[in-house]
Amino acid sequence: MPNLLILAGDGIGPEVMAEVKKVIGWFNGNGMDFEVEEDLVGGCAYDAHGQAVSDATMEKALQADAVLLGAVGGPKWDKVPYEVRPEAGLLRLRKDLELFANLRPAKCFDALADFSSLKRELVEGLDILIVRELTGGVYFGEPKEIRDLGNGQRRAIDTQVYDTYEIERIASVAFELARVRDNRVCSMEKRNVMRSGVLWNEVVTQVHKDRFGDVQLSHMLADAGGMQLVRAPKQFDVIVTDNLFGDMLSDVAAMLTGSLGMLPSASLGAPDAATGRRKALYEPVHGSAPDIAGQAKANPIACILSFAMALRYSFDAGEAADRLERAVEQVLAQGTRTADLIGPAGGTPVSTAQMGDAIIAELGRAA
Ligand code: NAD
Repeated sequence: MPNLLILAGDGIGPEVMAEVKKVIGWFNGNGMDFEVEEDLVGGCAYDAHGQAVSDATMEKALQADAVLLGAVGGPKWDKVPYEVRPEAGLLRLRKDLELFANLRPAKCFDALADFSSLKRELVEGLDILIVRELTGGVYFGEPKEIRDLGNGQRRAIDTQVYDTYEIERIASVAFELARVRDNRVCSMEKRNVMRSGVLWNEVVTQVHKDRFGDVQLSHMLADAGGMQLVRAPKQFDVIVTDNLFGDMLSDVAAMLTGSLGMLPSASLGAPDAATGRRKALYEPVHGSAPDIAGQAKANPIACILSFAMALRYSFDAGEAADRLERAVEQVLAQGTRTADLIGPAGGTPVSTAQMGDAIIAELGRAA
Protein backbone atom coordinates (compact mmCIF):
# COMPACT_ATOMS: atom_id res chain seq x y z
CA MET A 1 0.00 0.00 0.00
CA PRO A 2 1.60 3.35 -1.00
CA ASN A 3 2.41 5.42 2.04
CA LEU A 4 2.21 9.21 2.20
CA LEU A 5 3.44 11.39 5.02
CA ILE A 6 1.56 14.70 5.19
CA LEU A 7 3.27 17.61 6.93
CA ALA A 8 0.79 20.48 6.59
CA GLY A 9 2.88 22.98 8.59
CA ASP A 10 1.83 26.53 9.44
CA GLY A 11 -0.40 29.37 8.23
CA ILE A 12 -2.34 28.40 5.12
CA GLY A 13 -0.46 25.05 5.00
CA PRO A 14 -3.20 23.12 6.87
CA GLU A 15 -5.94 24.95 4.91
CA VAL A 16 -4.63 23.99 1.47
CA MET A 17 -3.64 20.51 2.67
CA ALA A 18 -7.22 19.88 3.82
CA GLU A 19 -8.24 20.08 0.14
CA VAL A 20 -5.44 17.72 -0.89
CA LYS A 21 -6.71 15.23 1.70
CA LYS A 22 -10.14 15.39 0.06
CA VAL A 23 -8.51 14.72 -3.32
CA ILE A 24 -6.60 11.74 -1.89
CA GLY A 25 -9.89 10.52 -0.42
CA TRP A 26 -11.46 10.75 -3.88
CA PHE A 27 -8.67 8.68 -5.46
CA ASN A 28 -8.92 6.15 -2.61
CA GLY A 29 -12.63 5.81 -3.37
CA ASN A 30 -11.80 5.26 -7.04
CA GLY A 31 -9.35 2.41 -7.11
CA MET A 32 -6.27 3.70 -5.32
CA ASP A 33 -5.19 2.86 -1.78
CA PHE A 34 -3.00 5.52 -0.24
CA GLU A 35 -2.17 5.13 3.40
CA VAL A 36 -1.83 8.60 4.92
CA GLU A 37 0.00 9.57 8.05
CA GLU A 38 0.23 13.13 9.38
CA ASP A 39 2.81 14.90 11.49
CA LEU A 40 4.21 18.31 12.36
CA VAL A 41 6.84 20.53 10.72
CA GLY A 42 7.80 24.18 11.11
CA GLY A 43 6.46 26.50 13.76
CA CYS A 44 3.80 24.05 14.95
CA ALA A 45 6.52 21.41 15.51
CA TYR A 46 8.57 23.97 17.44
CA ASP A 47 5.55 24.73 19.64
CA ALA A 48 5.02 21.00 20.31
CA HIS A 49 8.59 19.69 20.55
CA GLY A 50 10.97 22.69 20.56
CA GLN A 51 12.31 21.55 17.17
CA ALA A 52 11.30 22.49 13.61
CA VAL A 53 11.13 18.80 12.80
CA SER A 54 11.55 16.06 15.40
CA ASP A 55 13.74 12.97 14.99
CA ALA A 56 10.59 10.81 15.10
CA THR A 57 9.04 12.79 12.22
CA MET A 58 12.30 12.53 10.26
CA GLU A 59 12.22 8.76 10.72
CA LYS A 60 8.68 8.66 9.29
CA ALA A 61 9.78 10.84 6.37
CA LEU A 62 12.65 8.47 5.62
CA GLN A 63 10.25 5.51 5.60
CA ALA A 64 7.48 7.17 3.55
CA ASP A 65 7.06 6.60 -0.17
CA ALA A 66 6.52 10.34 -0.52
CA VAL A 67 6.21 13.39 1.74
CA LEU A 68 3.65 16.11 1.06
CA LEU A 69 4.41 19.44 2.70
CA GLY A 70 2.16 22.51 3.03
CA ALA A 71 4.16 25.54 4.16
CA VAL A 72 6.15 26.63 7.19
CA GLY A 73 6.79 29.86 9.06
CA GLY A 74 5.05 33.01 10.17
CA PRO A 75 5.52 36.06 12.39
CA LYS A 76 4.76 34.05 15.54
CA TRP A 77 8.17 32.35 15.21
CA ASP A 78 10.24 35.31 14.01
CA LYS A 79 12.18 35.41 17.29
CA VAL A 80 12.86 31.71 17.92
CA PRO A 81 16.55 30.62 17.87
CA TYR A 82 18.03 30.34 14.37
CA GLU A 83 18.66 26.55 14.51
CA VAL A 84 15.03 25.79 15.33
CA ARG A 85 13.33 28.39 13.12
CA PRO A 86 10.49 26.89 11.02
CA GLU A 87 12.53 26.87 7.77
CA ALA A 88 15.13 24.67 9.49
CA GLY A 89 12.57 21.84 9.38
CA LEU A 90 12.31 22.13 5.62
CA LEU A 91 16.07 22.29 5.18
CA ARG A 92 16.58 19.21 7.35
CA LEU A 93 14.01 17.26 5.34
CA ARG A 94 15.74 18.20 2.08
CA LYS A 95 19.17 17.39 3.50
CA ASP A 96 18.41 14.12 5.31
CA LEU A 97 16.36 12.77 2.42
CA GLU A 98 19.22 13.83 0.09
CA LEU A 99 16.85 15.53 -2.33
CA PHE A 100 19.27 16.72 -4.99
CA ALA A 101 16.80 17.33 -7.83
CA ASN A 102 14.26 20.12 -7.60
CA LEU A 103 11.52 20.08 -10.24
CA ARG A 104 9.66 23.30 -10.90
CA PRO A 105 7.10 23.12 -13.69
CA ALA A 106 5.96 26.38 -15.25
CA LYS A 107 2.71 25.60 -16.96
CA CYS A 108 0.28 28.24 -18.11
CA PHE A 109 -3.39 27.35 -17.90
CA ASP A 110 -5.19 29.04 -20.79
CA ALA A 111 -7.85 30.47 -18.49
CA LEU A 112 -5.12 32.32 -16.57
CA ALA A 113 -2.93 33.49 -19.48
CA ASP A 114 -3.90 37.10 -18.78
CA PHE A 115 -2.37 36.85 -15.29
CA SER A 116 1.11 36.50 -16.73
CA SER A 117 3.42 39.48 -16.81
CA LEU A 118 3.97 38.62 -20.48
CA LYS A 119 1.58 38.91 -23.41
CA ARG A 120 -0.97 36.11 -23.78
CA GLU A 121 0.50 34.82 -27.06
CA LEU A 122 3.92 34.34 -25.45
CA VAL A 123 2.62 32.16 -22.60
CA GLU A 124 -0.53 30.47 -23.92
CA GLY A 125 0.18 26.72 -23.92
CA LEU A 126 3.48 27.18 -22.07
CA ASP A 127 4.66 23.95 -20.41
CA ILE A 128 8.28 23.91 -19.27
CA LEU A 129 10.09 22.13 -16.47
CA ILE A 130 13.10 23.53 -14.66
CA VAL A 131 15.32 20.89 -13.06
CA ARG A 132 17.53 22.57 -10.47
CA GLU A 133 20.44 20.94 -8.63
CA LEU A 134 19.49 21.40 -4.97
CA THR A 135 22.20 20.10 -2.64
CA GLY A 136 25.47 21.41 -4.12
CA GLY A 137 27.02 24.50 -5.64
CA VAL A 138 27.64 27.90 -4.15
CA TYR A 139 25.00 27.66 -1.40
CA PHE A 140 26.90 24.82 0.28
CA GLY A 141 30.53 25.00 -0.94
CA GLU A 142 33.34 25.64 1.57
CA PRO A 143 34.94 27.98 2.47
CA LYS A 144 31.89 30.09 3.14
CA GLU A 145 32.73 32.99 5.41
CA ILE A 146 33.31 36.67 5.95
CA ARG A 147 36.99 37.24 6.79
CA ASP A 148 38.35 40.26 8.60
CA LEU A 149 41.37 41.40 6.59
CA GLY A 150 42.66 43.51 9.48
CA ASN A 151 42.96 46.70 7.41
CA GLY A 152 39.43 47.89 7.90
CA GLN A 153 38.27 45.63 5.06
CA ARG A 154 36.32 42.41 5.21
CA ARG A 155 36.20 39.73 2.53
CA ALA A 156 33.10 37.63 1.82
CA ILE A 157 33.66 34.21 0.30
CA ASP A 158 31.21 31.72 -1.15
CA THR A 159 32.53 28.73 -3.03
CA GLN A 160 30.93 27.35 -6.18
CA VAL A 161 31.90 23.69 -6.28
CA TYR A 162 30.57 20.70 -8.26
CA ASP A 163 31.89 17.14 -8.54
CA THR A 164 31.31 14.99 -11.62
CA TYR A 165 28.81 12.69 -9.89
CA GLU A 166 26.61 15.60 -8.81
CA ILE A 167 26.32 16.82 -12.40
CA GLU A 168 25.84 13.31 -13.76
CA ARG A 169 22.92 12.51 -11.49
CA ILE A 170 21.02 15.78 -12.06
CA ALA A 171 21.61 15.55 -15.82
CA SER A 172 20.25 11.99 -15.78
CA VAL A 173 17.07 13.15 -14.02
CA ALA A 174 16.59 15.90 -16.62
CA PHE A 175 17.09 13.51 -19.57
CA GLU A 176 14.76 10.90 -18.05
CA LEU A 177 12.04 13.49 -17.53
CA ALA A 178 12.49 14.87 -21.05
CA ARG A 179 11.83 11.39 -22.44
CA VAL A 180 8.30 11.46 -21.05
CA ARG A 181 7.72 15.05 -22.20
CA ASP A 182 8.85 16.69 -25.46
CA ASN A 183 12.28 14.98 -25.39
CA ARG A 184 14.35 18.18 -25.28
CA VAL A 185 16.84 19.36 -22.63
CA CYS A 186 18.55 22.74 -22.50
CA SER A 187 21.50 22.86 -20.07
CA MET A 188 22.39 26.28 -18.66
CA GLU A 189 25.68 27.36 -17.04
CA LYS A 190 28.31 30.10 -17.37
CA ARG A 191 31.20 28.21 -18.98
CA ASN A 192 32.51 31.49 -20.41
CA VAL A 193 33.50 32.78 -16.93
CA MET A 194 33.26 29.85 -14.46
CA ARG A 195 35.31 26.65 -14.25
CA SER A 196 32.28 24.92 -12.71
CA GLY A 197 30.40 25.91 -15.88
CA VAL A 198 33.06 24.25 -18.05
CA LEU A 199 32.81 21.00 -16.08
CA TRP A 200 29.00 21.19 -16.02
CA ASN A 201 28.92 21.54 -19.80
CA GLU A 202 31.37 18.67 -20.36
CA VAL A 203 29.66 16.26 -17.98
CA VAL A 204 26.14 16.95 -19.30
CA THR A 205 27.44 16.42 -22.84
CA GLN A 206 29.08 13.12 -21.82
CA VAL A 207 25.98 11.80 -20.00
CA HIS A 208 23.96 12.63 -23.09
CA LYS A 209 26.42 10.84 -25.39
CA ASP A 210 26.65 7.76 -23.15
CA ARG A 211 23.02 7.17 -22.21
CA PHE A 212 20.55 9.64 -23.68
CA GLY A 213 21.47 10.10 -27.33
CA ASP A 214 17.76 9.91 -28.25
CA VAL A 215 17.04 13.16 -26.34
CA GLN A 216 17.71 16.50 -28.02
CA LEU A 217 20.33 18.45 -26.03
CA SER A 218 21.23 22.13 -26.33
CA HIS A 219 23.42 24.40 -24.18
CA MET A 220 22.84 28.04 -23.30
CA LEU A 221 24.68 30.50 -21.09
CA ALA A 222 22.52 31.07 -18.01
CA ASP A 223 22.24 34.84 -18.51
CA ALA A 224 21.10 34.33 -22.10
CA GLY A 225 18.70 31.70 -20.74
CA GLY A 226 17.17 34.32 -18.45
CA MET A 227 16.59 36.58 -21.44
CA GLN A 228 15.15 33.79 -23.55
CA LEU A 229 12.77 32.78 -20.74
CA VAL A 230 11.06 36.17 -20.90
CA ARG A 231 11.48 36.66 -24.68
CA ALA A 232 10.26 33.31 -26.02
CA PRO A 233 9.65 30.87 -23.16
CA LYS A 234 7.83 28.31 -25.29
CA GLN A 235 11.11 27.33 -27.02
CA PHE A 236 12.03 25.27 -23.92
CA ASP A 237 10.94 21.85 -22.71
CA VAL A 238 13.26 20.80 -19.84
CA ILE A 239 15.93 23.19 -18.51
CA VAL A 240 18.67 21.72 -16.30
CA THR A 241 20.88 24.01 -14.28
CA ASP A 242 22.80 24.39 -11.02
CA ASN A 243 21.57 25.47 -7.61
CA LEU A 244 22.15 29.22 -7.91
CA PHE A 245 21.02 29.72 -11.51
CA GLY A 246 18.14 27.32 -10.91
CA ASP A 247 16.97 29.33 -7.92
CA MET A 248 16.67 32.46 -10.04
CA LEU A 249 15.55 30.97 -13.34
CA SER A 250 12.79 28.93 -11.71
CA ASP A 251 11.39 32.05 -10.06
CA VAL A 252 11.51 33.92 -13.37
CA ALA A 253 9.71 31.04 -15.08
CA ALA A 254 7.17 30.87 -12.25
CA MET A 255 6.03 34.41 -12.84
CA LEU A 256 5.32 33.65 -16.48
CA THR A 257 2.35 31.63 -15.31
CA GLY A 258 0.58 34.10 -13.02
CA SER A 259 -0.27 33.49 -9.36
CA LEU A 260 1.94 32.05 -6.63
CA GLY A 261 -1.11 30.05 -5.59
CA MET A 262 -0.78 27.90 -8.74
CA LEU A 263 2.82 26.65 -8.53
CA PRO A 264 3.73 23.11 -7.44
CA SER A 265 7.19 21.61 -6.95
CA ALA A 266 8.90 18.30 -6.33
CA SER A 267 12.29 17.48 -4.84
CA LEU A 268 13.68 14.03 -5.61
CA GLY A 269 16.57 11.93 -4.27
CA ALA A 270 18.39 8.91 -5.64
CA PRO A 271 16.42 5.76 -6.54
CA ASP A 272 16.21 3.19 -3.73
CA ALA A 273 18.42 0.19 -4.53
CA ALA A 274 15.65 -2.33 -3.74
CA THR A 275 12.47 -0.63 -4.97
CA GLY A 276 13.78 1.85 -7.54
CA ARG A 277 11.58 4.49 -5.92
CA ARG A 278 13.18 7.86 -5.27
CA LYS A 279 12.90 9.65 -1.93
CA ALA A 280 10.56 12.55 -2.65
CA LEU A 281 9.09 15.69 -1.15
CA TYR A 282 6.23 17.54 -2.84
CA GLU A 283 5.27 21.07 -1.84
CA PRO A 284 3.71 24.23 -3.23
CA VAL A 285 6.18 27.00 -4.06
CA HIS A 286 4.33 29.52 -1.90
CA GLY A 287 4.88 30.11 1.81
CA SER A 288 2.50 30.16 4.76
CA ALA A 289 0.84 33.44 3.69
CA PRO A 290 0.17 34.79 7.20
CA ASP A 291 -1.65 37.78 5.67
CA ILE A 292 -4.56 35.53 4.58
CA ALA A 293 -4.21 32.56 6.97
CA GLY A 294 -7.41 31.53 8.70
CA GLN A 295 -9.61 33.45 6.27
CA ALA A 296 -10.50 30.62 3.85
CA LYS A 297 -9.01 32.68 1.01
CA ALA A 298 -5.97 30.54 0.12
CA ASN A 299 -5.79 28.94 -3.30
CA PRO A 300 -5.28 25.18 -2.79
CA ILE A 301 -4.32 24.49 -6.43
CA ALA A 302 -0.51 24.70 -5.94
CA CYS A 303 -0.75 22.06 -3.22
CA ILE A 304 -3.18 19.92 -5.24
CA LEU A 305 -0.89 20.09 -8.29
CA SER A 306 2.01 19.07 -6.02
CA PHE A 307 0.02 15.92 -5.23
CA ALA A 308 -0.46 15.43 -9.00
CA MET A 309 3.35 15.51 -9.29
CA ALA A 310 3.53 12.86 -6.55
CA LEU A 311 1.12 10.67 -8.52
CA ARG A 312 3.32 11.03 -11.59
CA TYR A 313 6.82 10.82 -10.14
CA SER A 314 6.46 8.64 -7.02
CA PHE A 315 3.53 6.37 -7.82
CA ASP A 316 3.84 5.84 -11.56
CA ALA A 317 0.23 7.02 -11.89
CA GLY A 318 0.59 9.38 -14.84
CA GLU A 319 -3.00 8.88 -15.95
CA ALA A 320 -4.34 9.85 -12.53
CA ALA A 321 -2.04 12.89 -12.55
CA ASP A 322 -3.30 13.90 -16.00
CA ARG A 323 -6.86 13.50 -14.82
CA LEU A 324 -6.28 15.70 -11.76
CA GLU A 325 -4.54 18.38 -13.84
CA ARG A 326 -7.40 18.29 -16.36
CA ALA A 327 -9.92 18.72 -13.53
CA VAL A 328 -8.02 21.82 -12.34
CA GLU A 329 -7.93 23.15 -15.90
CA GLN A 330 -11.68 22.59 -16.33
CA VAL A 331 -12.56 24.30 -13.06
CA LEU A 332 -10.49 27.32 -14.05
CA ALA A 333 -12.03 27.35 -17.53
CA GLN A 334 -15.47 27.48 -15.89
CA GLY A 335 -14.42 30.70 -14.17
CA THR A 336 -14.12 29.33 -10.63
CA ARG A 337 -11.56 31.55 -8.90
CA THR A 338 -10.08 32.00 -5.45
CA ALA A 339 -9.37 35.64 -4.51
CA ASP A 340 -5.79 35.59 -5.86
CA LEU A 341 -7.14 34.73 -9.33
CA ILE A 342 -9.68 37.52 -9.56
CA GLY A 343 -8.42 39.90 -12.22
CA PRO A 344 -9.25 43.55 -12.90
CA ALA A 345 -12.55 42.42 -14.46
CA GLY A 346 -13.72 41.43 -10.96
CA GLY A 347 -15.96 38.54 -9.94
CA THR A 348 -16.88 36.73 -6.76
CA PRO A 349 -14.13 34.58 -5.29
CA VAL A 350 -14.76 31.10 -3.93
CA SER A 351 -13.28 29.88 -0.65
CA THR A 352 -10.41 27.40 -0.31
CA ALA A 353 -12.86 24.56 0.41
CA GLN A 354 -15.18 25.54 -2.47
CA MET A 355 -12.22 25.39 -4.88
CA GLY A 356 -11.31 21.93 -3.56
CA ASP A 357 -14.93 20.77 -3.88
CA ALA A 358 -15.17 22.09 -7.44
CA ILE A 359 -12.04 20.13 -8.43
CA ILE A 360 -13.43 16.97 -6.85
CA ALA A 361 -16.76 17.43 -8.61
CA GLU A 362 -14.87 17.74 -11.88
CA LEU A 363 -12.83 14.60 -11.11
CA GLY A 364 -16.12 12.78 -10.60
CA ARG A 365 -17.52 14.06 -13.91
CA ALA A 366 -14.45 12.83 -15.78
CA ALA A 367 -14.80 9.38 -14.16
P1 NAD B 1 4.14 33.71 0.85
O1 NAD B 1 4.35 32.84 -0.34
O2 NAD B 1 3.67 33.08 2.06
O3 NAD B 1 3.12 34.90 0.44
C1 NAD B 1 3.40 35.87 -0.56
C2 NAD B 1 2.07 36.51 -1.04
O4 NAD B 1 1.36 35.57 -1.85
C3 NAD B 1 1.12 36.85 0.12
O5 NAD B 1 0.45 38.04 -0.19
C4 NAD B 1 0.17 35.69 0.16
O6 NAD B 1 -1.10 36.01 0.66
C5 NAD B 1 0.10 35.27 -1.30
N1 NAD B 1 -0.12 33.82 -1.42
C6 NAD B 1 0.80 32.84 -1.17
N2 NAD B 1 0.25 31.64 -1.34
C7 NAD B 1 -1.04 31.85 -1.69
C8 NAD B 1 -2.12 30.96 -1.99
N3 NAD B 1 -1.99 29.62 -1.96
N4 NAD B 1 -3.31 31.52 -2.28
C9 NAD B 1 -3.46 32.84 -2.33
N5 NAD B 1 -2.47 33.73 -2.07
C10 NAD B 1 -1.28 33.23 -1.75
O7 NAD B 1 5.54 34.46 1.10
P2 NAD B 1 5.95 35.46 2.29
O8 NAD B 1 4.79 36.34 2.65
O9 NAD B 1 7.21 36.07 1.83
O10 NAD B 1 6.29 34.52 3.52
C11 NAD B 1 5.38 34.22 4.57
C12 NAD B 1 5.99 33.16 5.47
O11 NAD B 1 6.16 31.95 4.71
C13 NAD B 1 7.36 33.52 6.01
O12 NAD B 1 7.46 33.05 7.33
C14 NAD B 1 8.32 32.76 5.10
O13 NAD B 1 9.54 32.47 5.73
C15 NAD B 1 7.52 31.51 4.84
N6 NAD B 1 7.86 30.82 3.57
C16 NAD B 1 7.80 29.46 3.60
C17 NAD B 1 8.01 28.74 2.45
C18 NAD B 1 7.86 27.26 2.51
O14 NAD B 1 7.29 26.74 3.45
N7 NAD B 1 8.32 26.53 1.51
C19 NAD B 1 8.29 29.39 1.23
C20 NAD B 1 8.32 30.79 1.23
C21 NAD B 1 8.09 31.50 2.40
